[in-house]
Amino acid sequence: MPPPAPPGQETGPEASRPDCDDASSRCWTVEQLLTVEVDGSRIIHDDEAVPAVVVRMPAFVAHHLAHVLHDWTTIGEIMESGRGSDERELATALHEAARAAADPGANRCNHPVASE
Ligand SMILES: [Zn+2]
Repeated sequence: MPPPAPPGQETGPEASRPDCDDASSRCWTVEQLLTVEVDGSRIIHDDEAVPAVVVRMPAFVAHHLAHVLHDWTTIGEIMESGRGSDERELATALHEAARAAADPGANRCNHPVASE
C-alpha cells in the first residue's frame, strides 16, 4: 500500500486543465487559471432553487482572492460605502480552503483574513 499523500494531494478526481469541455457559451476560462461555469446545477436560496455558478480554481488563486475580498471590504468600510459589501466570511472561507488544499502561501500567511 502506498504511503498517504500529503495534504492537498490526496487522490480524488483526476486533475484537469482549466478548460471548458466544449465551446459552450455557459463556460468561461479565465487566464488559463480557472473556469466559471453555469453547469445546470441549482442551489437553494431563500427556499427557492436557483441556478448555480460553479467556479473552479487552483488553491493559490483562492488564497489571492481571499485577500482581494478582504481588502475590498476594508476599502468599503473606509469609504463608508452604502453597498453593504462585507465579504469577510467568504474571504475567510476561501483562505481556509486554500490552507486545506495545502497552498504554501496560505499556510505561511499571518494576515488577519486568516483568523477572522
Ligand atoms: Zn493569506
